[in-house]
Amino acid sequence: MTRCPLCAAPAPHPFLRRDSVPVHQNRTAATRAEALAMPRGTLALCACPACGFVFNRSFDPTLPGYGPGYDNTQSLSPAFAAHLDSLARHLTEVRGVRGAHIVEVGCGQGDFLRRLVAYPGADNTGTGLDPSYRGPVQDAGGRLSFERRLYGPDCARPADAVVCRHVIEHVADPLALLRTIRAAAPTARVFFETPDADWILRQCVPWDLFYEHCSLFNAGSLADAFGRAGYTVTGVRHVFGGQYLWLEAEPGPAAAHPAPGETAALATAFAVRETALVAAWRAHLAQLGRVAVWGAGAKGATLASLADPQGVLIDFLVDINPAKQGRYLPGTGHAIVAPAELAARGVRHVLVMNPEYRAEIAAMLPHGVALAEWAD
Ligand SMILES: [Zn+2]
Repeated sequence: MTRCPLCAAPAPHPFLRRDSVPVHQNRTAATRAEALAMPRGTLALCACPACGFVFNRSFDPTLPGYGPGYDNTQSLSPAFAAHLDSLARHLTEVRGVRGAHIVEVGCGQGDFLRRLVAYPGADNTGTGLDPSYRGPVQDAGGRLSFERRLYGPDCARPADAVVCRHVIEHVADPLALLRTIRAAAPTARVFFETPDADWILRQCVPWDLFYEHCSLFNAGSLADAFGRAGYTVTGVRHVFGGQYLWLEAEPGPAAAHPAPGETAALATAFAVRETALVAAWRAHLAQLGRVAVWGAGAKGATLASLADPQGVLIDFLVDINPAKQGRYLPGTGHAIVAPAELAARGVRHVLVMNPEYRAEIAAMLPHGVALAEWAD
């Protein structure tokens, strides 16, 4: 019997099942053929009625890889950069993370850790760990170091503060990750950011559910996970337009406080609507004519995979990240191009995957290209 990885209750039937989906959303390919040949897996999401945790019971941890070719950088967007700036200000000025050694688990290209170390007067040092990191291993005059590897018991580091953003949803056993951090840095405060499962289900966003995210939390299940791993949660709040949860905790006694909330009911309602919504999207894309999708990240890759698996409705995807331009979307093989190429390629409409970026994208569109409205 499959059990909930968080509370060990028997798993319910999946509310969502997608077979043969690309296991990667953020790993682009050098050629279309390579993109089409990327590994596939099964997404079978269960929403635990006992604790509210959402997990893929068919997840195979040997399939996704986060090495070269994986790029989840979002800080090139002004809206996302402003979000990182605001979190850095909060940590240093409100939470007093100063004169501290900060370990960032899954630091990507280090954009957030650099902000915490460079913050005026904060006097912080940092170590970032990420297998997809591409920059120098020492930076900021030796105040910053990076290691190209997955965080695990063998590389656990002592720290005053541990930061971990958009990582725990990629981990099949989140309790093991939290217990590893707790053992490695027994006095450290921890700061985590992860998508809010309730936001995805309530807004009914099918492209926010994909293979890389095998573990999704609501505010209650996130706090419960930290409690079980030996933390006292001092706060969980919504950030970034309500899409993400921001959790703060300090070491404490291990205790379970299950608070399932509405997630299981929201999942049932989502399942009823999802098929019709994807069908409406196919019709909408066909009716738009020449259309590009802005954002070759997980949302764009999942929309393409769900609504245009044959690559006939979406002309291409646009991304401001130079590391993705000229490459191909995993699973469907759609081309990824720079914004400057939009005008020459003859598309009339651009579809924006995340409404938080709508204003900045509208300002970058060439004459004759309009933002497409969303289908309902
Ligand atoms: Zn559970």
